[in-house]
Amino acid sequence: MEKLLQNLNDFLGKVEETKKRYGIARDIQIVAAGKFRSPEELKTLYSTGRISAIGENRVQEFRLNYTPELMWDIIGQLQTNKVKYVVGKVRLIQSLDRIPLAEEIERIAGMRGVRQECLIEINSGSEISKGGIEANEITGFVEELKNYPHIRLRGVMAVAPRGLPEDKLEDCFNRAREAFESIDFIDGFDILSMGMSEDFRIALKCGSNMLRPGRILFDGESSIIKY
Ligand SMILES: *Cc1c(COP(=O)(O)O)cnc(C)c1O
Repeated sequence: MEKLLQNLNDFLGKVEETKKRYGIARDIQIVAAGKFRSPEELKTLYSTGRISAIGENRVQEFRLNYTPELMWDIIGQLQTNKVKYVVGKVRLIQSLDRIPLAEEIERIAGMRGVRQECLIEINSGSEISKGGIEANEITGFVEELKNYPHIRLRGVMAVAPRGLPEDKLEDCFNRAREAFESIDFIDGFDILSMGMSEDFRIALKCGSNMLRPGRILFDGESSIIKY
């Protein structure tokens, strides 16, 4: 566990360096992407107070790991029939990307008397994520979601494809940022979640205020190709 805490410290140092390099003053939230990690590792990370949530990709894993003492986000594609396992338990569903999913979140949240906070996932051509709406569809999508009082939209999430040349990666993040900024008529629409182990520096440069590192926290820097 010492190594894990060291990795977290190293990562936070790199985030600070990057903020300085690009003159970034805003606060940056860290969501630890916890796929296939042990509950002990997740607890250790969360108990530092330096990360704001654990991001789970798969509902099955979320159900195994869930404990109310930690904060949780869903960051992977969410199947409609699994919505009932997460609504009201997670801080954010980061992967809202289709109306039938919104309908089910609305239905379950209404039944439970909660308002579920969600990010809209923008498709950037990533193989990891595959989900997401097109950036230019965001206004229409948000319009449709007006009729869902138990969903509160908080911002945008994007997963960039791996291995892009730096300029293409920037294009990708900038498209997501522009979509995010175009929604300036919703109170509290203020989260732009982008950036993982390999690409967090470019994501910060392009306006991210929420990073979702995984391997760089759990495995350390060594295995990561970085920009
Ligand atoms: C796996 C995953 C991450 C973390 O990826 P790393 O490359 O391990 O940092 C972040 N976001 C999503 C949606 C993921 O699936």
